[in-house]
Amino acid sequence: MLETTRTYRAKIANHSHVSDDLDQCGFSASKLWNVARYYTQGRWDEDGEIPDDGELKSELKEHERYSDLHSQSSQRVLEELAESFTSWYKARQRGDEDANPPGYRKHGDEHPRSTVTWKQKGIKHDSKHNKLRLSKGFNLKTHRSDFILCEYETRPDVTVENIQQVRAVWNGDRWELHLVCKVEIPVEDAPGDNTAGIDLGIKNYLAIAYDDGDAELYPGNVLKQDKHYFTRDEYDTEGENGPSKRALRARQTLSCRKDHFLHALAKHVVEQCIDHEVGRIAIGDLSEIREDENGESRNWGKRGNKKLHGWEFDRFTNLLEYKAEEHGILVDRTSEQDTSKTCSCCGRKRDSNRVERGLYVCESCGATMNADVNGAVNIRRKITQNPPTGDMSNGCLARPVAYLFNQTSGSFHPREQVGCEP
Ligand SMILES: [Zn+2]
Repeated sequence: MLETTRTYRAKIANHSHVSDDLDQCGFSASKLWNVARYYTQGRWDEDGEIPDDGELKSELKEHERYSDLHSQSSQRVLEELAESFTSWYKARQRGDEDANPPGYRKHGDEHPRSTVTWKQKGIKHDSKHNKLRLSKGFNLKTHRSDFILCEYETRPDVTVENIQQVRAVWNGDRWELHLVCKVEIPVEDAPGDNTAGIDLGIKNYLAIAYDDGDAELYPGNVLKQDKHYFTRDEYDTEGENGPSKRALRARQTLSCRKDHFLHALAKHVVEQCIDHEVGRIAIGDLSEIREDENGESRNWGKRGNKKLHGWEFDRFTNLLEYKAEEHGILVDRTSEQDTSKTCSCCGRKRDSNRVERGLYVCESCGATMNADVNGAVNIRRKITQNPPTGDMSNGCLARPVAYLFNQTSGSFHPREQVGCEP
């Protein structure tokens, strides 16, 4: 068995009853953040040091704002501040001049609703009735009851138990809960010793290539249609106060549908890998491209338009890792360097090799193949020993099958054979 954590999103069923209390906690978390931010500034100005979370906790535990929240919730706010200072400091040392230190959480006289985290001592869970008792701090207890009783709803296939943390997150419209649960998953033997390579992009959301020359494309057509449909209101309703309620709601629906797509895709890919007796998957790591040394990390131009945003790459890769590890399949994040420029048939990288209408054309060996599949084959090669042979028996003969997502059934179905001309 493998012990790990899963985070489930939950809707608050009795939102109107608890939203005032959650607001109070959210505002308090912002105030405590600002107190600690101010303290950190003082230490920095005085002797050029950034206090760690241990110092923040011992210095501020007597502060009035510390007692607004449950002590573990207050501690988490201080940890978050220390973490963001650390990552800013690291970015600074790397020479990233655009990096900013964490700011104050205040807009005029208003405090935003910060995320509030409860750890085990502040949580009582009634799993039978889907209820959570979340403790408040001493200050907020005096004129109200001393806990917030939330009724929650999760996706039907989710079992909520062994809760480690509850996070209340303001999504711009209402509060939602993120439940971090400890889970034990059985570790199976890997389905086999084969490998697969995955290339993530925009035109084809995902391309995968296997040892035996099979390849599949996932165009992500529904994502484009969804985006078009659910953002149509934003352009004419965006006023001084930002997007309208309606546009916000549409944006949430969009993100929900996208989430559904990503879950289904990760699940489907793992099933395909089991069929192909795959034990290891290589996936091109896009976060590396963002941080290349030529200072081109912010150049979203030619390549950026074609590729996913870093956070979305992480989101999908995490899902894939979760689902793959349950079946004993390893997921390797590998460098994408040169994988789109190199010919997977002969292994040559030439500037004259080109991509035309999604087809990769090699000047050296004459191979013509789907460009995304070419990338996926090259990514797979990064974790296998067999080099390109030039005999065009591997990869080049791949006739990718395109799989389309059916929103109603929530599953993927092959379209028609497309791909490389002989
Ligand atoms: Zn070639």
